[in-house]
Formats: sequence, C-alpha cells, structure tokens
Amino acid sequence: MACICSERSGHYNFAAGPAMLPSEVLAQIREEMLDWRGSGFSILEQPFTGAAFRQLMAETEADLRALLAIPSNYRVLFMQGGASAQFGLLPLNLLRSGQGADYLESGHWARKAIAEGRRHAPVNIIASAADQNFTALSSPEHWQLDPLAGYCHITSNETANGLQLQAFPVLPVPLVVDMTSDFLTRPVPVERFGVIYASTQKNLGAAGLCVVIVRDDLLQAPPAGLPAAFSYAVQAEQQSRLNTPPTFTLYVAALMLRWIKQRGGTEAMALAARQRSTQLYRYIDGSDFYHCPQKIQDRSSINVCFRLTDAGLTDIFLAQAEQRGLTHLRGHAAIGGVRASLYNAMPLSGVQQLVDFMADFERHHG
Ligand code: PMP
Repeated sequence: MACICSERSGHYNFAAGPAMLPSEVLAQIREEMLDWRGSGFSILEQPFTGAAFRQLMAETEADLRALLAIPSNYRVLFMQGGASAQFGLLPLNLLRSGQGADYLESGHWARKAIAEGRRHAPVNIIASAADQNFTALSSPEHWQLDPLAGYCHITSNETANGLQLQAFPVLPVPLVVDMTSDFLTRPVPVERFGVIYASTQKNLGAAGLCVVIVRDDLLQAPPAGLPAAFSYAVQAEQQSRLNTPPTFTLYVAALMLRWIKQRGGTEAMALAARQRSTQLYRYIDGSDFYHCPQKIQDRSSINVCFRLTDAGLTDIFLAQAEQRGLTHLRGHAAIGGVRASLYNAMPLSGVQQLVDFMADFERHHG
C-alpha cells in the first residue's frame, strides 16, 4: 500500500475549512475502512445505538474532557447544523422570553452570530471593531456590558479577519464563545464559559459535527418551537443520541483527539501554532512587498491574513502558489487579499514552503 505521506508530499491545503488532516489520521481511516475494530463492517455501517459505537462516543467525550480539562458540571454535546445553526440555537436554548444578549462585534463571524441572534432576541453590542475596519479588537475593560443580559457572546478567533482574543474575562453573565476556528489549538479556562461551541472541520477533523460544551445549570426545557434535536437539555439527557449523530465525523474527531493527545495536547498545539504563525508574520513584517494590517497584539495564530502591497499582483500570486501545491490561499470573499489558515494538522514544513514561495515571488515581481 502506498504511503499517504509521500502521495501528499509538497501539497498543503491552506483553506479556512474543511482543512488538512494529518497523514497518520488519513492512513488509519484507510486501514480501518473495511473492518472497524474487528466488527467485520466499516465505521459507516455501525448502528449508532450499538455498544461499539456508544463506546466510541464515550471515548471521544473522555478524550475531549481530558484535553480541555472540562469540569464535571459541564455537558459535552455532539450536534449537527454547524456553528451557523448554533447562532440561532443559542438564544433559543439560553434566553428567557423577552431577555436580551450581549455580543462582541469582532469581525465577519461575530456579525453572522449577531444577525442570527437578532432574529430571536434583543442584541446589545458591547464593543465593535468596525470603526477600525476589523483590524484590532477592543479589550474586555472597554466592553459595555448589560448586567441583565442572558449571556455575552464572543468569537475567540475571527477566521476571515485574522484576529484572535488572547484572554477571556470572568463575567457576571454566562460567557458564550464561538471557538470554531481555534478549538483545541490552545488551552482555555473552560470554567469561565457558560457555553463553548465549535464546528469540527478545521481543527478536529471532518465537516458535519458541532461540539457544544455547556454548563449544566444553563440547561432548560426546550421552549415551544425549538425542535427537540436542537435542544441542549434534550440532547444532554439523551447523550447526543436523540437521533442519529454524524457517525463518521465523530469517528474522525475521535482519531484527531488521539492524534492531539499523542503530540502533547493543547499546550503542544499552542506551541506549534505559535511557531507556524510567527514564522509567517515575521517574513511579512520584514518585507515591503507584503503587509498585514492587523494590530500585532490581536493577530490570529491560526488564520494569517495579509495583502500584497501591489494588490494587482494578488491573482498571479494565488495562481502561482496553487501551481506549487500551496492551495486555497485566497482571502475570504468579503475581505480579499491572502489568507493562510494554519490549523492543527498543518506541518511547519507547509509554512516554510509558503515563505519560500513568497520570497521567490517577491524576487520576480518586487
Ligand atoms: N464561526 C466561525 C468562527 C467560523 O470560522 C465558521 C466557518 N468558517 C463558522 C462559524 C461557521 O461554521 P459552519 O460552516 O460549520 O456553520
């Protein structure tokens, strides 16, 4: 059997998601595809109510709890509909009738959460990065909090804008965080949050699953109109098996969690993320040909967004990068420029290849 590592050598996927998977994880999926754990069937053919699959879900939850040090008064839910569904499900699950919520307007994805939140509840913007064109974040001491809000929503990493919150405050209301693009890329103080949610297609494997970690005192009976499959309380009660969960994606997440654990956990992921992003930012900052408009303290270690000083060269840059096996570097459609998404599975060699290409391109066009 050919080695996946050599088949993929020299090709790096810098997409915002779905992202690269580690070669070891892909190899294990291939190896187990026809016979998962000696069952004689593939993972795709396992009933979700069977003992083997229930065991896999229990192991997945246990690994996640260990990696993030999730306290015992939090429930881990495996839901569908992506983080985008959560934008609407948060107010439906957490707010009482007429109650409002606080939101930090930090970038493109926070705005999506706000727009959806507004369909269900009054929204108070505690601070906005709009006046700085989403190149800097306002720090927690400047947030204009409503003490009566049902929760305060933040986005830990703005995937499209290249901004990342570096610290999480202790708040009097439940702090709710969209961690979709930096989940499991660093240790986080779970006990400061009411809810953490993240889709898995960036740092934890394949698309189709959204992990929701919710403090158990926030679970309440589903209000009229909320489908039971989208109720935190019902799914917690049913151990995320009210209906068929995304079994294959859960399996890939289980393999990714083991991969992260074997590499030293979230501390090791954070160190790797810092090494990758520092190497790229250092190159950009040392060149007049490229520039990164984000304020240094607020820059993301996961999604590095930058521009060519001569914007007219961007399309040629992207086309030539693609020819070198450096794919999906185009910035978000709403923002433009270049974006290198450096999730957990991106090796440092991918960043080295990108920097080498950027230097070559600058030599030819600078
Ligand atoms: N939030 C953030 C921060 C994201 O980066 C994304 C996806 N790029 C989403 C939410 C939406 O996730 P999904 O497509 O799984 O709904």
